[in-house]
Amino acid sequence: MSLFSAVEMAPRDPILGLNEQYNADTNPNKVNLGVGVYFDDNGKLPLLQCVQAAEKTMMSTPTARGYLPIDGIVAYDNAVKALVFGADSDVVQSGRVSTVQAIGGTGGLKIGADFLKKVSPNAKVLISDPSWENHRAIFVNAGFEVDTYAYYDADKRGVNFDGMLASLNAAAPGTIVVLHACCHNPTGYDITDAQWDQVIAVVKAKGLTAFLDMAYQGFGHGIAEDGAVIGKFVAAGLNIFVSTSFSKSFSLYGERVGALSVVASDKEEAARVLSQLKIAIRTNYSNPPIHGGAVVAAVLNNPELRAQWEQELAEMRVRIKAMRQKLVDGLKAAGVQQDMGFITSQIGMFSYSGLTKDQMVRLRSEFGVYGTDTGRMCVAALNSKNIDYVCQAIAKVV
Ligand code: PMP
Repeated sequence: MSLFSAVEMAPRDPILGLNEQYNADTNPNKVNLGVGVYFDDNGKLPLLQCVQAAEKTMMSTPTARGYLPIDGIVAYDNAVKALVFGADSDVVQSGRVSTVQAIGGTGGLKIGADFLKKVSPNAKVLISDPSWENHRAIFVNAGFEVDTYAYYDADKRGVNFDGMLASLNAAAPGTIVVLHACCHNPTGYDITDAQWDQVIAVVKAKGLTAFLDMAYQGFGHGIAEDGAVIGKFVAAGLNIFVSTSFSKSFSLYGERVGALSVVASDKEEAARVLSQLKIAIRTNYSNPPIHGGAVVAAVLNNPELRAQWEQELAEMRVRIKAMRQKLVDGLKAAGVQQDMGFITSQIGMFSYSGLTKDQMVRLRSEFGVYGTDTGRMCVAALNSKNIDYVCQAIAKVV
């Protein structure tokens, strides 16, 4: 008998499974709106100019590759702190933020989850209903019980904010609440500034722990605008967790560049927190890789490259917004009766289209247009060449 004879086949990752199906599809018009990746108007994954420039400089003075410190490149961690909290902010200046380089946003979440399991071993975790698939799995694997808070309202095509507040109000003190800082994945619906204030008030009053996942900073309204919510939590005097991902904003998906920042109550506490974050890293993968972090640090810490990055990120953001409008207009022109205007009130890479599972399956099998069964489509993969085809296809299934 084999050691593995009782090992069950795990279900395929829904998104990566879609990718495999897409790659095998022979339809010449096929369009992949499944995976959360930004493609340019030629359907190509961009290699940002600022990244190329930083890499060129790095290549001109090649360096040996020793181990990084457990918490990563110091210049990188400081750049993340500055980006997320503001370089001159009181919270950074007073040394209350502990930031560690992480293996993508996923790594930031995992390190945070492992650390939280030591701090609040019996806490429950709440994620939005629905949320990015991996949120649940990451916290379950760290040993937590995971439940949801109300979020999406299908009838209203927006956020069920009363439901969200009610869920948070009903949570036990110490509950960990995973919040999408901006560009909610998968729905594309964010809450307003005033609603954030209400969420923060409940988090504070009920003694909840906020874990803000910021995977799309700069894809919503702008870098500072999208990051502003972090400042609100800090101003409320809360100890928060923030995971950062540069996968999308630097188009560096495969380099796995991210971070975790934890806000402590004072400098001495932050040092103790950092020491524990390092244990979590050390026991997971010892220390992070160099290249992606070095590129991002080089860009963020150089005024010219930084300006170039902001410009390139703005171009991505603006193009996505233009595609949303084209989608709304194109669907109307293709004869879709219902008002699809809600697509432009969504933000970030995704649109919950409201299409049913059956309609999504038909889009795939009859037209080679791939989105998830939940009706999520990645609008960042639409372009001037495929938009008409996608609109025609949707019009035929609704
Ligand atoms: N959080 C959310 C909400 C995401 O959508 C993603 C990426 N799809 C991540 C975290 C993880 O990002 P990364 O690829 O950098 O690990």
